[in-house]
Amino acid sequence: MSPNTAVQFKAQATRLAADLEHRQWIFKALRGYEAKRDECKARFQNWEGARQAAAEIKYDTLNHLDRYLEQFVHHLESRGARVHWAADARAAREIILDLARQNQVRFIIKSKSMTSEEIHLNEALEAGGFEVFESDLGEYIVQLRQEPPYHIVFPAMHLKRGQISEVFQQKLQAEPVTDPEALTMIARRVMRQKFCQADMGISGVNFGVAENGMISITENEGNARLTTALPRIHVALMGIEKLVRTMDDLALLLPMLATAGAGQWLTGYNTLYGGPRLAGESDGPEQFHVVLLDNGRTRLLADAEQRDVLHCIRCGACLNVCPIFRNVGGHTYGTTYQGPIGSVLTPHLRGLREWKHLSYASSLCGACTETCPVKIDLAHHLLHNRRNAVQAHPPFFERLAFAGFQVMMRHPALYRLGTTLARWLQPLHGLVQGTALDPARAWTRSREAPRLARESFHAWWKKHRRTTSPS
Ligand code: SF4
Repeated sequence: MSPNTAVQFKAQATRLAADLEHRQWIFKALRGYEAKRDECKARFQNWEGARQAAAEIKYDTLNHLDRYLEQFVHHLESRGARVHWAADARAAREIILDLARQNQVRFIIKSKSMTSEEIHLNEALEAGGFEVFESDLGEYIVQLRQEPPYHIVFPAMHLKRGQISEVFQQKLQAEPVTDPEALTMIARRVMRQKFCQADMGISGVNFGVAENGMISITENEGNARLTTALPRIHVALMGIEKLVRTMDDLALLLPMLATAGAGQWLTGYNTLYGGPRLAGESDGPEQFHVVLLDNGRTRLLADAEQRDVLHCIRCGACLNVCPIFRNVGGHTYGTTYQGPIGSVLTPHLRGLREWKHLSYASSLCGACTETCPVKIDLAHHLLHNRRNAVQAHPPFFERLAFAGFQVMMRHPALYRLGTTLARWLQPLHGLVQGTALDPARAWTRSREAPRLARESFHAWWKKHRRTTSPS
């Protein structure tokens, strides 16, 4: 990623925040979500209690991750699955590329997986000479447009029907139609063929269950089932934090994921996978591989202050309510994970120095914290990232400003002189406000400069001391 990410982010955010059509479209795409989510929340006997229980499940699992991972792997291997450990993105790509090469794979079909986006798997597979097709409709559309997903859960939410039709006409020589069903049928016809051609199916994992070594995939289109069942090899890519302890945990987390993520009681298809086809079974893959990805997760786990970021179940709810996301959209972030969770997580995955700017792109309104089904205090984590960034690389001008402030605060005469001067000079500020000569330009370009009181409290106190002092 280019070292200019902060500059690019600012430029694109400024442009998109002023693009009223884009903003309106995002608002329209999310209209109804909150009402549906609240309706589903009301079906829980106690949504707040469920949030607390979900947070505790994740807390306990991560506190004993070593033990639960061992249990999970043991059950998987006992059913003939092969488990691979990947320390980082490169290792994970290499494992999957090797599997494809060793098995003379040509066509690969994928179901939706943000973890595969995180490791840039498609690019690596294509560079390795493999043809890769996304089977999730939204992912397929953005793949055809050669762009990354716009949202963790709704990858193509930024596109209007006409734009989807255009891309189908250009890339698939389809008829110009805008009816959603007709558009889906176009993709479906292409996709069915790819399912039959594919030698390898790659999926993500929503949850891994330690007590029985099953992986859980939740989806609305049924394409993940075809991706995992039709090709002769199934590779599941899973971040190590996706683990839960038991099926009971899953029974709580699946409806919570559906409710928070899409305002559904339950996602359309919820499937558990546990190994390759057994003797006598008529379908399922001949080989079943699970790639367990670290890629910075254990580093985050070691951070007592921020480890609960790993509780995230990738529901995307924090994006949906974030005023920044709703104004600047998903592509502006330039990361795999957008919105509040992306702003918190990305510096841990890709480096704080280069990605700290995302933690400043927040109003700190706390809507993300309020909505998170596993109670991650995102707003505070954004502040933690900011503090850590400043501690690691204190900005020169900020240090200078605070050193000056410190000197003033230690010398009352200097403080009084400074504030008197500022009071005199403030009326002149209007002459340079917003121009290159304005020392407070970064602030005043889009906001009013705060007005200083006409007299200091000190002066006021001196004047009124006699009248306010007890007699
Ligand atoms: S941080 Fe919370 S709200 Fe945001 S995606 Fe993760 S689980 Fe969902």
